[in-house]
Amino acid sequence: MTARARVWDRTSSAMARMTRAIVQTAPRALELRELPVPDVADDSAILRVEACGICGSDAEQYAGTLPAQWPLIPGHEPLGIIDRIGDRAAKRWGVDVGDRVAVEVLIPCGHCPACVGGRYQVCRGRGGMFGYSYVPLATPPGLWGAYADYMYLDPRSLVHKVRKDLPASTAALFNPLGAGFRWAVELPDTGPGDVVLVLGPGQRGLASVIAARAAGADTIIVTGLARDAEKLALAKALGADHVIDVEHEDANRRVKELTDGHGADVVVEVSSNSPVPVAEALHYAAFGGRIVLAGVKGFKAVPDFVSDLVVVKELHLLGAFGVTSPAYRAAIRLIESGRVPVERMHTHDFALEDAEHAIRLLAGEIPGEQSIHSCLVPALTRRA
Ligand SMILES: [Zn+2]
Ligand SMILES: [Zn+2]
Repeated sequence: MTARARVWDRTSSAMARMTRAIVQTAPRALELRELPVPDVADDSAILRVEACGICGSDAEQYAGTLPAQWPLIPGHEPLGIIDRIGDRAAKRWGVDVGDRVAVEVLIPCGHCPACVGGRYQVCRGRGGMFGYSYVPLATPPGLWGAYADYMYLDPRSLVHKVRKDLPASTAALFNPLGAGFRWAVELPDTGPGDVVLVLGPGQRGLASVIAARAAGADTIIVTGLARDAEKLALAKALGADHVIDVEHEDANRRVKELTDGHGADVVVEVSSNSPVPVAEALHYAAFGGRIVLAGVKGFKAVPDFVSDLVVVKELHLLGAFGVTSPAYRAAIRLIESGRVPVERMHTHDFALEDAEHAIRLLAGEIPGEQSIHSCLVPALTRRA
């Protein structure tokens, strides 16, 4: 990646005609470019990016395992300030210049069967999955990702106003927490009395703990590997009642012990790569339990999947792809309330130039260093 020593002149932001942006040109190939910032139309806007969260999808996009048309600007978890906005967009979205907004990744068409049926997260009305970070540079105006000082906001963007007195990296937790609310609460209809078991203590797992607790779950259990000890401790600090190290404990027996033989009413599978926990989830679930599958496994088959358990226990298997506006709103309200120390999930802020390091750290490619939630913060200068 090209290093650039110059610090962006913040005072020129209102009139910025150019933006720095990280452009992905091929698998594992990022470069810093300067690109023109377009004028806004009546129904669009320009966002000054304050922070862009990084998750497993960033690592997959960087590695080239997600379908993509390069070159493109990555970054699908934008938080920022409305820099310029057309009158119609301001009216539609209920925001104006200077407001801080969280931007949803998906840009739904609004009129396909999925959209009108209330499932806009599977909208394909704009020719495949259409959202920030996934549209190529060649599609005007090109600034479709948040690894940049400025990005374009399409007329069909979904934005949520966020209080400006919170640190940007805390506010940027709207994205993983939104996933927590959709996956651990909204989809499985979690409520008081439920036993919730979260498989995997990464940022999505921790977010699931926070959301399940906010929804009134009775008992929350989180599993992880031996190397996840710190994350499991954090899970307890954020509301989990019990944690299980699956490498040193018999997880199935522990779940039964902790639930008086009942099992988990809700199992949230958010571990990455290994399909093994998917098969195990059937054993952990209570009769009539709901299992939410949200961790991607590189399209690997699940060994030892005993489908009879789904039948005899009348289990509900629920696939989770993306987040919904109500879940994002629940996340933002919780962050703004200050009731939960959500900021403890945030471990790293990186300058734009360090995008590659940030992604590789999240993917576990940096020996001796671990992250939970990281942000790219364009206002930061390059690390020494
Ligand atoms: Zn993400
Ligand atoms: Zn649609």
